Amino acid sequence: MRLEGLHHITMITGDAQSNVAFYADVLGLRLVKKTVNFDDPSAYHLYFGDETGAPGSILTWFEFAGAAPGRAGLGMIHTLQLGVPSDASLDFWQQRLAAKGANPTRVSERSLKVSDPDGLQLELVVADDGNPPLQAAHHEVPAEHAITGLEGARAYSMFHGVEEQVLTEVLGFEHQGGGEYRVQGDERHFHWAYDEAPAWAPRSGAGTVHHIAWASQDDDHLKWQARVREADGYITDVKDRDYFNAIYFREPRGVLFEIATMSPGFAADEDAERLGEELRLPRQHEHLRAQLERSLQPIVNPRAAARETSEVSA
Ligand code: ZN
Repeated sequence: MRLEGLHHITMITGDAQSNVAFYADVLGLRLVKKTVNFDDPSAYHLYFGDETGAPGSILTWFEFAGAAPGRAGLGMIHTLQLGVPSDASLDFWQQRLAAKGANPTRVSERSLKVSDPDGLQLELVVADDGNPPLQAAHHEVPAEHAITGLEGARAYSMFHGVEEQVLTEVLGFEHQGGGEYRVQGDERHFHWAYDEAPAWAPRSGAGTVHHIAWASQDDDHLKWQARVREADGYITDVKDRDYFNAIYFREPRGVLFEIATMSPGFAADEDAERLGEELRLPRQHEHLRAQLERSLQPIVNPRAAARETSEVSA
């Protein structure tokens, strides 16, 4: 039994529309699901990914409209690493991000950093160590440069260089020395790492990461739950998240981990051609639809807008 690398990473945004503009319009990911928070249906939950919404490509946001900016600190993820196909792709993204008003910094031949509109730190890295590309189509982003999925994430810890045995012995991460770990699935891997925590107090809010979810084969999900329990970890009951089943626990350094099943996936409740175009509600909140459609700020999926334009001009 092994984790199949990353499933998704979930963040907090203070403004869903500028979040969509950045991730779907600028970075060229596909908005694959527009739904609401299971625990607070008055708030959006947006999912972005590749064309199909494959595990390993998924970034999601809870919108807490007008939320104050947070600041990553001890026990929080501070940087997400997105893959691109080549060194030349970093040149493409440096120009594109600058032209769109973001402020990219070339860290090296192999890496480019940029903050999203909420201040979340992203790093574009050349993904050439084996992950099959998970790409979305975007009319301004050639496939030779399109983002290829999530390659890694970095968190803050007091004991960043000490091997964490819950990761290696319970979850099967490979410790690569220092704060570096590798999660190797059958098809995809993910680079998980800790850096020394800054002195300031951590504060969750807009632009911070809420949790990271590892992918599990459906048949293994309950075995993972049992394994964490045997190691005396507190882990939640199984939650039905409509597009996957999920269990949650905190790893010893404080980061909230989830283990999510690979199926049923995002085409479970809408046509694969029109993912993310209509507001989908969890079954238990469907009775609130009329009220939510009035209270939620409308968000236009750029895919739907592009289709309407081409239908009008055709
Ligand atoms: Zn999640």
